[in-house]
Amino acid sequence: MKLVVVGSSNMDLVISLARIPAIGETVLGGSSSMVFGGKGANQAVAAIRCGGNVSFIAKVGNDLFGENMKKHFEKEGFNSDHILTDANTATGIAQIFVSDKGENSIAVAPGANMKLMPKDFVPFHNLIKNAQVVLLQLETPLETVEFIADIAFQNEVKLILNPAPAKQLTESLLKKIWLLTPNETEASLLTGIDVIDQTSAQKAAEHLLDMGVKNVIVTLGVSGSLLCTAKGVKYFKAFQVKAKDTTAAGDVFNGTLAVAITNGIALQDAITFASAAAAISVTKEGAQPSVPFRVEIDKFLN
Ligand code: ATP
Repeated sequence: MKLVVVGSSNMDLVISLARIPAIGETVLGGSSSMVFGGKGANQAVAAIRCGGNVSFIAKVGNDLFGENMKKHFEKEGFNSDHILTDANTATGIAQIFVSDKGENSIAVAPGANMKLMPKDFVPFHNLIKNAQVVLLQLETPLETVEFIADIAFQNEVKLILNPAPAKQLTESLLKKIWLLTPNETEASLLTGIDVIDQTSAQKAAEHLLDMGVKNVIVTLGVSGSLLCTAKGVKYFKAFQVKAKDTTAAGDVFNGTLAVAITNGIALQDAITFASAAAAISVTKEGAQPSVPFRVEIDKFLN
């Protein structure tokens, strides 16, 4: 039972400051940290840490960040042959400023993530064809997402697309998706319906089913999530925790959800599992440092 995750890997360079620098301003002081991030990598790490049989395909640059990432992925248990290198492009970087008030500003240079092209998948064709589930996001070229969606669809592999960051998608792609997992912003952009609560989330999810998606989960942050399938609609509350940093909550939700589905768990139970994992992640800081391990999720649910 294999899950294949394809997506981005970024180095998050975080600087904490009294205030976020204005244009032309230099603000001294504050601490810094380097944290592994990127939606693809966050979701893959969430998947493997919760016990999944996971392959992660990504592209990094031929630089120190890329080298560090490869070592990191190997430590997490991934096959390092699946982390490709682009000789001429830098590894993806997110430069994040966080102020004392908790505000942030983020600049992303996607670098090698945008060089992950369909031709790179020749050696991975069988891996994708034989997978139970394939999990994608939108931080790699859309052309690549569409190419993998085609392979998955032709081979009856369940395709989960987390449509983040928000982007318009063609009906031809939507029809190949077994499960779409937008948050409120993404659901709004995809449907033109302003998603602000459960009622509007349901309207948007039903609209997405009409557009050809098989199943939809709209995630609503602290307000939980909403599942919409041909059988009907069900709302799931979020677990109550003391939130410290919600970065990557959606990624943890998607990665752990995909593992549960790969293992044959019914969607409703898979959502409870993923909601628990995501709730744990918001109690900790950072992207991948906040991703829980299986023992923590089991303990949380018992
Ligand atoms: P992000 O972009 O921050 O990674 P997202 O917008 O993709 O997140 P959300 O809808 O914010 O995704 O969160 C995904 C899931 O995580 C929610 O459906 C919920 O189950 C859980 N979650 C998010 N925030 C909280 C919170 N403050 N407390 C408990 N659970 C939360």
